Amino acid sequence: MSGFPIEYASRIKTLPPYLFAAIDEMKKKAIARGVDIINLGIGDPDLPTPAPIIERLKQAAADPKNHQYPSYEGLLSFRQAVAGWYKRRFGVALDPASEVLTLIGSKEGIGHVPLAFINPGDIVLVPSPGYPVYPVATGFAGGVSHIMPLLKKNGFLPDLDAIPRDVAKKAKLMFLNSPNNPTSVVASKDYFKRVVAFALEHRIIVCHDAAYSEIYYDGKRPASFLEVEGAKEVGIEFHSLSKTFNMTGWRIGFAVGNQHILNGLLKIKSNLDSGTFQAIQEAGITALESDESLTDGLRKTYQERRNVLVPGLQKLGLEVDLPPAAFYVWVAVPKGYTSASFTAHMLEKAGIVTTPGNGFGKPGEGYVRMTVTTTKERLAEAVERIRKTGL
Ligand SMILES: *Cc1c(COP(=O)(O)O)cnc(C)c1O
Repeated sequence: MSGFPIEYASRIKTLPPYLFAAIDEMKKKAIARGVDIINLGIGDPDLPTPAPIIERLKQAAADPKNHQYPSYEGLLSFRQAVAGWYKRRFGVALDPASEVLTLIGSKEGIGHVPLAFINPGDIVLVPSPGYPVYPVATGFAGGVSHIMPLLKKNGFLPDLDAIPRDVAKKAKLMFLNSPNNPTSVVASKDYFKRVVAFALEHRIIVCHDAAYSEIYYDGKRPASFLEVEGAKEVGIEFHSLSKTFNMTGWRIGFAVGNQHILNGLLKIKSNLDSGTFQAIQEAGITALESDESLTDGLRKTYQERRNVLVPGLQKLGLEVDLPPAAFYVWVAVPKGYTSASFTAHMLEKAGIVTTPGNGFGKPGEGYVRMTVTTTKERLAEAVERIRKTGL
């Protein structure tokens, strides 16, 4: 009950409709009927945070010096750990004091960055299907999203040549995401080189989301955007400890790269939040300084699961590629279905929850996203159930 009609601001009223509401409803009904649901809709690791990271948090949480407000930009020791990890992993040198910024999860930084650079009416280049935060954060800043469709014929990468010249000229900022959610596609260094040239020509800030850089398969490590010459002059890269170390609930990530861009983001942050709990940053240092065996195990687990799900779906005649990275499987729906009707079919006939591709943007229509954040046994069972629906 409200004492008067509560009116929402137009930035909320114009949010895109919540496409998953209908599925949530169907899912609830199925659970109520006693259906044993296999949930392939969740983008959240099912495995626990490694023990050494938890131990470090316990110790750091008991230290009173960590109980006060942290610094806005983050502990220098955490930023040094980031720089060290970056050097080892990508061969890129970063100045921890000016080229690394701690975030409360990368979503926080991605959501705030348009506020630092976008004036009302400014254009932001947004890949679609994609992480919904890119267009929503653009809208919150008063900007206008120009959609870069991710199409199969372009290897699911934005076609830079397809961006009209007047749009490119006016655009202020571009979001990119490799390895990609939801398609799992990885951009090559060559592709990043073209992005840098494009950004320099049109004076566009590049914000590359690399949340899945450590979830890769067959030993093929995705490149960082900053590995390419000139990248640090035009952009920043977002990273997260969430997927790499099963730390989604901890809320810690970081942005690296161009110090002027990071400074803009810091100005916004210092007026809206007060940094990341220092004990979590200390635990983050343990994560970043751990040896590769920690993440090797995770990659092995996802790879085994992928190797159950994808060939299983292919044998059923579904059009789907073996993902080189991330924990998503991007499946074309069979003829006669839409994203929505196939999602409904999977739930009703097989008790499987998937995510309709158009929920990530219109160009995702015709696909569903499945995740490998559930056990091999359950994935095998999912394939078997889909087989029984007789597609
Ligand atoms: C999960 C995810 C993130 C961010 O996660 P945080 O937990 O906020 O660090 C960022 N981008 C994409 C594409 C994601 O899927």
